[in-house]
Amino acid sequence: MKVSFHKALLQKRFPLAISRGVHGDSYNVFVRVEKEGIIGWGESAPGRNEGAQNPEQVISELQRLVETNINDKSISEIEYISRELKTSPCSYAGLDIALWDWKAKKANMPLHDLLGLPLPKSKTSVTLGIMSPESAKDRIPLLFDGSSAKYLKVKLGSPEGIDADKNMYNQVLESIKPYNISLRVDANGGWDTEKAKHMIEWLSKRECDYVEQPLAEGKEKDLKTLYENRLLPIFVDESCRFSQNIIEYSEWVDGVNLKLMKSGGITEGLRVLSTAKAYGLETMIGCMSESSISISAAASISGHIDHIDLDSHYNLKPDPASGAKMINGVTMPRIAPGHGAFLTNENQT
Ligand SMILES: [Mg+2]
Repeated sequence: MKVSFHKALLQKRFPLAISRGVHGDSYNVFVRVEKEGIIGWGESAPGRNEGAQNPEQVISELQRLVETNINDKSISEIEYISRELKTSPCSYAGLDIALWDWKAKKANMPLHDLLGLPLPKSKTSVTLGIMSPESAKDRIPLLFDGSSAKYLKVKLGSPEGIDADKNMYNQVLESIKPYNISLRVDANGGWDTEKAKHMIEWLSKRECDYVEQPLAEGKEKDLKTLYENRLLPIFVDESCRFSQNIIEYSEWVDGVNLKLMKSGGITEGLRVLSTAKAYGLETMIGCMSESSISISAAASISGHIDHIDLDSHYNLKPDPASGAKMINGVTMPRIAPGHGAFLTNENQT
């Protein structure tokens, strides 16, 4: 198996501000595997919290893994070696996605069919970062005019405090009136327990469907007090990286948000979904700053997922890859063998 790496710039239409800072343009690593004339594509989005700081670290971690001679090994065996080598989840995700793409192409099946999953039905959210009410007023028509999107995820947990959160959210409520859309909120751990309790009650009277990651990662024990008498469903994102995390707080949350860059790809991602379902939790799938390659991989496993947040590739200008598109509000993989996506220009380095 020949494995090569392509670094490509992801330029954003709009930078995304969340509670912990602003995400602008970034470099991702595209992983290409080739064997028996079949090519598989994967993607790694480096992230401080997902172990690899930059594309160079992703490439060096994956080169080290490839040098162990993964040629005739199964995906599970390669994943095991990656853990032995302490490969960062966001690095390994790129190779894991490429291996699954290759496997489905080899079987001449779309990835969702290979995994026995239906095509997605749930419509995706699009995301509104933390911003002033004036900016929110300008941005919302840009997101929804001429779009089939039906859900807006509003980022709160502003470093300026909950009054800033309320002012922005009130403007959002006003600005969505011409559109038939529903709201959900992601605080990215920007609240303490007291503020979270207050905000969940406040949002429950203002058309919010659910709240994601109200408390910071590491504060999972405090979810217990938040969960009792909660007025909105509570999801965790940063607190849910691997399937084994779920056991710790399964009685104190309504659902978990899977991201392929946190789990290290599809192999562990499927375990996250199975574990969440086994504990009676709802499921969500989201993304980091990703192109349509890893979004297509995520869309391919989203057929049984309750809430979808696969929108980062819609915010790229241009998307260096081609794949999943929004069809009637659903982020739908291209119907082709594999996950259906590929790097548009392989000469990018
Ligand atoms: Mg989130």
